[in-house]
Amino acid sequence: MAEPTVFEKIIAREIPAEIVLETDRIIAFTDIHPQAPMHVLVVPKTPAYRDVVELAAAEPELLAEMIQAAQAIARERGDGGDFRLVFNTGELAGQTVFHAHAHVLAGSFGEGSLA
Ligand code: 5GP
Repeated sequence: MAEPTVFEKIIAREIPAEIVLETDRIIAFTDIHPQAPMHVLVVPKTPAYRDVVELAAAEPELLAEMIQAAQAIARERGDGGDFRLVFNTGELAGQTVFHAHAHVLAGSFGEGSLA
């Protein structure tokens, strides 16, 4: 068995997190190192998928549920309801936790910036 990731520990309440939304299939909590005024991670509870590509191939409806959750969170906590979704996919792209997840970012990004 692979070592549980930090997200599994959050799901199991073994380490604390500021949880902003939870359903039977998804959990969302604020990122410990926020990169925007609002930075929430939306995570499927299953650890079966190491990244969004695996998740989308196997359970596209679960990915759709995550995107709906992202919108609900941005409407509730963001500034105006618009948001950016980021899926770091692979180590060279900056992925550090290999349990599929979406970064939901909202707030001021500066004009035209993708950073
Ligand atoms: P990745 O780099 O894999 O796309 O994203 C992993 C994210 O998890 C990072 O933005 C990182 O700040 C966040 N993270 C890592 N450890 C913890 C933790 O213990 N608690 C919370 N809330 N976020 C974490």
